[in-house]
Amino acid sequence: MINRQNVHDRLLFNNCLVEELVLKNLELKTPVRFLKGVGPSRAEMLKAAGIETVEELLSWMPVRYEDRAFSPSISSLREGDKVSVNGMISASGRRAVRKRGLSLFELIVSDGEGCLSVKYFNQPYLSGTLKDGCRASFYGTVSRDKYTGELAMINPETELLGSGPTGPGGSDQIVPVYSRIDKISGRLLRQIISGIFSVTLSGEDLLHQSILDKYGFPTTVEAFRLIHCPSPPPGVDRMLFLELLGKLATPAQKRMIYEEFFVFQAGMRRKRDENRRRSGTRQIKITTLLRDRIKSVLPFKPTGAQKRALREIVQDIASPYCMNRLLQGDVGSGKTIVALQAMMVVMENGCQAAFMAPTELLAEQHFKNLERLLEVTPFRTEFLSSAVKGQSRKRILRDLQNGTIQLIVGTHSLIQEGVSFQELGLAVIDEQHRFGVVQRGRFRGKGADPDVLVMTATPIPRSMAMTVYGDLDVSIIDELPPGRKRVKTVVRQEDQRGEVYSLLDERLKSEERIIVVCPLVEESEQVDLKDATAMHQSLAALFPHCRVGLLHGRMDFEAKTRTMLEFRDGLISILVATTVVEVGIDIPDATVMLIEHAERFGLSQLHQLRGRVGRGEKPGLCILMSAGLSSESSAERLEVMCESNDGFYIAEKDLEIRGPGDYLGARQSGAADFHFGSLVKHYDLLAAARQDVSEIFRDNLLSKSGKEQLLNAFDHKWGQRAGLYSSS
Ligand code: ADP
Ligand code: MG
Repeated sequence: MINRQNVHDRLLFNNCLVEELVLKNLELKTPVRFLKGVGPSRAEMLKAAGIETVEELLSWMPVRYEDRAFSPSISSLREGDKVSVNGMISASGRRAVRKRGLSLFELIVSDGEGCLSVKYFNQPYLSGTLKDGCRASFYGTVSRDKYTGELAMINPETELLGSGPTGPGGSDQIVPVYSRIDKISGRLLRQIISGIFSVTLSGEDLLHQSILDKYGFPTTVEAFRLIHCPSPPPGVDRMLFLELLGKLATPAQKRMIYEEFFVFQAGMRRKRDENRRRSGTRQIKITTLLRDRIKSVLPFKPTGAQKRALREIVQDIASPYCMNRLLQGDVGSGKTIVALQAMMVVMENGCQAAFMAPTELLAEQHFKNLERLLEVTPFRTEFLSSAVKGQSRKRILRDLQNGTIQLIVGTHSLIQEGVSFQELGLAVIDEQHRFGVVQRGRFRGKGADPDVLVMTATPIPRSMAMTVYGDLDVSIIDELPPGRKRVKTVVRQEDQRGEVYSLLDERLKSEERIIVVCPLVEESEQVDLKDATAMHQSLAALFPHCRVGLLHGRMDFEAKTRTMLEFRDGLISILVATTVVEVGIDIPDATVMLIEHAERFGLSQLHQLRGRVGRGEKPGLCILMSAGLSSESSAERLEVMCESNDGFYIAEKDLEIRGPGDYLGARQSGAADFHFGSLVKHYDLLAAARQDVSEIFRDNLLSKSGKEQLLNAFDHKWGQRAGLYSSS
């Protein structure tokens, strides 16, 4: 076997010798320069595309496969077919088109049974290669010529076919089709790549034999061969095999996808291990007495999912390591009560707890709620935000420091300078997506490494939770409290506004309350305000018998709170609001949510907003007003909203529509850059890889060098980006 250094030395010595030697014995790490067909200039082009080794070249996956043995006959073609046709060029010609600057090169292709007209615009150089009598394959969409009415293909991907039946691109094979790299055509790439498999190729496997056995995966080298020189295994139907290839579902392709996820998860796992810090000298004990006390503050029986989540959290709290956990649960799934129980555990053990919410309003609501629930306990609960000033602020800061406050609820004021704790045991961050990753870390400086629980009501697709939040543990509440009803959702257009208003009128007559949300336009508070204000005025005029309130981000804390309370208590029947109403407001009698310009909102935001209504006895209704659909995806979003109330389903759809790149943190973490796998399509492989990594690391199944190799592969591919993303 030849290693790289060796090869290099010999190259200096005698170029020919090396060429001969290397071609018989390739390794995955061999530079592409030593491949047949790759000279210095092509090596440069490949390098510019990030390809320096045989392995990297083999990772240039075919964009599709063609079955040269069974291409459809020309006479069977129909307009609209997207196909690859083989045939002989029976006539060709160039002409200028009247429109200035356009040239046309035209072919007649026949396969003995029929003729097809093939046209190329502005590619006159093709006439040099596509000559009469040549056989070629044409891939494209069959159209009908406007003037002659005959079937035609315009600018198809074209490739001359070799004459022999066996060579690459031969006529009886399933042939991989590659996109070009710089000046290296797809056909040439196929020649170079297939050349690799005509000699001995070897390389180390990143995957442990036990994993290959478990899933029936081929080795790396074998997988590459099966992907680049595919043929149906014995007993497998050719059509089925082609279909699997097209779906990236052959064992060889799945192996590549799995391996990529596996390496990524190994890197994430290392990161989590590095972050596992001891949680000070705290001793957290769970006693029967403590359990009873916790039960005594609960106003209802927790759901199974709430119990499960709490168990996972308490396990972390009681362990000697810091907790770094994400609690996911749909709007209204009851996360607060789970957090409260966790905070009780800490407080009963003599430590303090902090609960941070993204807005003043929400923090205030949580404060009232938690304070009331803790009334029967000896614990003192206080509120802190930028609105708390002067003497009372001083007093609170002092008492946090001397430990006479056990629970502090507030806004991001909690993590600002000047706030310090006597012994902060647990920090809870509500609606974590509103905060950055940085804030998560800030609490760490506030005590002897408190446990941190972040909560989100914007469910993240499972695959994102495993990648973007790959360094967090995740608990999920996937069950709503009993009796919760589905909020019916409809889309209405501007010309149906009259109907919508009479519907509102009916609801108002049965004492129900309505929230109307106007969007934030171009992030400008000014425009935003005008919208909500105008809406407020027109609704006030339309419904003179009831009070219409207005809520927006520019109002001061007291005014906002007053408005919210009046709405809660029924003094206000219609609340017109900007998106400040988005999070967490809990008003059981609010039943109708009318969202203006719903097409401007993202799916998760719409879902959040809808979650504000239908929390009580009466059935909820969500009306999505749409002023013309700006794009296909906005139509799709509204459709998804009507279809489902399940936040996890909606999150998956959101990922499908937007793609992973738009996900918060996805780019930094590298999760948007999987080369083989897709977070949308290959969740099962991702989950399997994560599970396997966790078992292999836990049971120390890898040799030291095996582990090193794996983590090197991670650093090589993801290292830099993953460094940007940090949980602490
Ligand atoms: P979210 O997960 O959106 O923060 P909350 O914690 O605000 O949800 O809970 C939503 C509502 O459901 C609250 O009024 C809460 O009191 C109620 N709730 C939570 N858990 C239960 C339960 N197990 N049984 C009945 N009601 C519950
Ligand atoms: Mg909440």
